Amino acid sequence: MPPLLTEAIVLHSFDYLESSRILRLLTRDAGVRSVLARGARRSQRRFGGGAALDLYAQGSAELHTKPGRDLDTLGGFDLGHARPQLAAHLDRFNGAAAIAEMALRCAHEGAADVDLFDAVALALDEIAAAPGQSARDATLAAAWRVLAALGVAPTIDDCAECHAAVAADEPALFSHPAGGVVCARCRTLARTGRTLPASARGALRVWLSGGSYDITDALEARAHQRLLREFLREHLADDKPLRALDAWGGESA
Ligand SMILES: [Zn+2]
Repeated sequence: MPPLLTEAIVLHSFDYLESSRILRLLTRDAGVRSVLARGARRSQRRFGGGAALDLYAQGSAELHTKPGRDLDTLGGFDLGHARPQLAAHLDRFNGAAAIAEMALRCAHEGAADVDLFDAVALALDEIAAAPGQSARDATLAAAWRVLAALGVAPTIDDCAECHAAVAADEPALFSHPAGGVVCARCRTLARTGRTLPASARGALRVWLSGGSYDITDALEARAHQRLLREFLREHLADDKPLRALDAWGGESA
């Protein structure tokens, strides 16, 4: 088979045997791939040198695939841009790790998803560019946009059950199973949920439309992190732990 050439981002990396690494790549054209980078720890030169295969680096990858094999071999990696700013601040690093975990858990193995790739690339850029104290808000914004790219954005202004409009300036029940805010009538039927104040709905609205919204109150920030975590859990098919997301949210795993 000819090699597969595709834009890729390193989302996970661990050492393998004496000199190699196994990477989890989010690719533009082939979804998430596990790849073996032979000799990557002995010589970085063949993979573009220096920081090329560092976490969150993005570049064009040459993948050698075999039918029926889950592990590709990395033939080469041309670094487009590294994101060293993500490792330079703990809040940025934790935020990026949470986004990476979301993408790895939600992406379909091997299936191309250009929207997801672009959303994750933009998310990492925005977190990398955020001043340390804004990294948490940048991560919240990015996480909801990644979920939107996956097609599971929550409803904020329409009832998730009956699609009736829900007044923007009022608190509303947010139902994870329903997939967003529900109206007063459907509220009585909702199994579970959390009441979101109008300000929290406002933040979600801004984030989902691509804007930035600064949260000044620590408790409010924790509530947003919890809402995101609950929403993600509801939409994942399994109960496997979300370690990076828990660590980012200050939750012990
Ligand atoms: Zn309704």
